[in-house]
Amino acid sequence: MSETSNYTIIWNEAINQIRSEIDEQEFQTWFNLEYQGADEKEFTIAVPSLFYKDQIKKRYQTYIEGKIEELIGKYVSLNLVIKPKTEAKSPQAEEPANNEPVLPAKEAAKPKKDRHNQLREDYTFETYVVGENNSFAANAAQAIARNPGTAYNPFLIYGGVGLGKTHLMQAIGNYIHATTDSKVFYITAETFTNEFISSIHESTERAKAAFKNKYRYADILLIDDIHFLQKKDGTQEELFYTFNVLYDANKQMVFTCDRAVSDLKDFNERLRSRVGRGLNVDLQPPNYETRCAILRKKANASGITIPDEVIDLVSKNISTNIRDLESALMTLTAYTDLVGKPVTLEIAQQRLKDVFASPRQSNISIEIIQRVTAEKYHLSPNDLKGKKRTQSIVYPRQLAMYICKEITEYTTTEIGQNFGGRDHTTVMYSCQRIEDIIKTDPTVDSTVQSLIRDIKDYSVKS
Ligand code: ADP
Ligand code: MG
Repeated sequence: MSETSNYTIIWNEAINQIRSEIDEQEFQTWFNLEYQGADEKEFTIAVPSLFYKDQIKKRYQTYIEGKIEELIGKYVSLNLVIKPKTEAKSPQAEEPANNEPVLPAKEAAKPKKDRHNQLREDYTFETYVVGENNSFAANAAQAIARNPGTAYNPFLIYGGVGLGKTHLMQAIGNYIHATTDSKVFYITAETFTNEFISSIHESTERAKAAFKNKYRYADILLIDDIHFLQKKDGTQEELFYTFNVLYDANKQMVFTCDRAVSDLKDFNERLRSRVGRGLNVDLQPPNYETRCAILRKKANASGITIPDEVIDLVSKNISTNIRDLESALMTLTAYTDLVGKPVTLEIAQQRLKDVFASPRQSNISIEIIQRVTAEKYHLSPNDLKGKKRTQSIVYPRQLAMYICKEITEYTTTEIGQNFGGRDHTTVMYSCQRIEDIIKTDPTVDSTVQSLIRDIKDYSVKS
């Protein structure tokens, strides 16, 4: 969306808020204002006459500027220009001879139902494919979208990268935005942090308050990737207060995180327990059938035809996450666009051979490594992901991490995430430890090799 229409939305929102705060008669009398344009310093607004201009200046200019500041977090001035009556949109836009309403109808101040400027238009429930990996999360999200702030508050969606957390969160936002007048705020934890830090450095109290008010004013607050807040004490504290204000007012909050809240490090305990007290659900990687369904849906959406055997090929070879599936599809789409021919199995094989050959896509998932390793040591995969530190669990856990590092392309951070949200340094330490053991005890090496063979066998079958 262009900058211009963002400003229009802000203007409409400011006017709408003012309308709800002042007397209707007063509003009708004075808010005969027409948005002309804006940039980051100034909003230009047309008024029908000099009389109006003076009155607005005297009575409302600071008020309106304050509203805009609250919404965008910084001060901008109001530039009032006179637009001669003949040009004015409303035929009734004359100086008020009496207290007759001068605004034609409510619509004049009501913003047109536009798309939400912080949300991606295509991140909706309609475009979200539901499979066994995400059905619980998707159903909960729909229930929340229909009845925000009632049950399931806050709602936390967690899981690894590219599994659809942001999409699902924004689908909630888009749905509520389209069906209600609620003020939906979407923000990444990173932007929230940056805004908070700049607000501290603002010189005026008013500018400092603008940041706080902005989010405490939300009806629906969506904060993406809250793991980013680890170690950021000040921002966590700020979020804690915002949380309380919104929670007490039954405003819906949704968070996403790359791990369970219990696995967040350097995280304010009070905030952790607040976020954890709502509904927490995780997203798992999609299985083969869901991967096919996602590819079909995405191909349809971009208007390209992909034969079933190509869908099958891609789904079999890319199992990591949905983002990787999408980028494979984009490679194929680009080909069809450029060459003007449909994708065949041969072409897909050829175009994607590097992607498929990457060890990351060798269909060996961390989950399989955990399953096979756990089985060998008569444990459950959850033992490997869990917190228990008995030697009978610690050693297989370290072994599994080591194998992940050796035969997949997952980063130590990703591996850590999949082992109950452990830190990447823990993964590095585990790998080092196994390497040391292998150096002194060659039987361990053969154990590792035989495990790797089992894992590969298992992966081919699945
Ligand atoms: P995350 O926030 O978990 O890293 P995203 O929400 O950004 O993941 O998802 C990555 C991409 O995959 C996005 O383009 C999203 O639209 C797509 N995607 C994820 N899950 C699904 C799904 N279930 N159905 C359709 N598309 C999906
Ligand atoms: Mg995301």
